[in-house]
Amino acid sequence: EYMSLEKLINRVVMKLELTMKEKDQKVNIYIKKDLKDIYADKDAIEQVIINILSNAIKYTPENGIINIILNSKDNNNEIIIEDDGIGIPKEDINRIFDRFYRVDKARSRDLGGTGLGLSIAKRIVESHNGQINIESEYEKGTKVIITLPIK
Ligand code: ATP
Ligand code: MG
Repeated sequence: EYMSLEKLINRVVMKLELTMKEKDQKVNIYIKKDLKDIYADKDAIEQVIINILSNAIKYTPENGIINIILNSKDNNNEIIIEDDGIGIPKEDINRIFDRFYRVDKARSRDLGGTGLGLSIAKRIVESHNGQINIESEYEKGTKVIITLPIK
């Protein structure tokens, strides 16, 4: 169905707000004024945003900052979720979309999880003919860029 990404983002942020408050994290949302609706499976895209934002929260220490940016570009909408958290080492970046892959078991152990969140997100985005990319710098932060066709 046609759906507003802005509403979807607000709904997901509301769901995860308490977790962010507990870690004293701040979330900023930037939305391009004339953002177009996209044609997509609303529940599936919500799952994608939940998985990515949960990672940003989980892998960012207390007092961290998370930015969410929504932008329309040509026939696509772009969703960027960036954090200033622990980052991903270069040698792991190619494998994080693999099922069950988690960076460094020691650092992930305390945080919990199965290593499925990103692989599920990628499958959903690609089934919508979109793309998901990650840029990250170890101990600096991570930026996830999702591109979804408007139609
Ligand atoms: P699950 O999502 O199933 O609860 P998970 O978070 O470990 O578990 P993914 O979401 O697939 O699994 O992420 C894979 C790995 O990529 C994580 O274990 C983590 O090491 C790394 N990662 C993902 N997002 C971030 C991020 N924003 N910052 C730092 N590392 C990240
Ligand atoms: Mg995850």
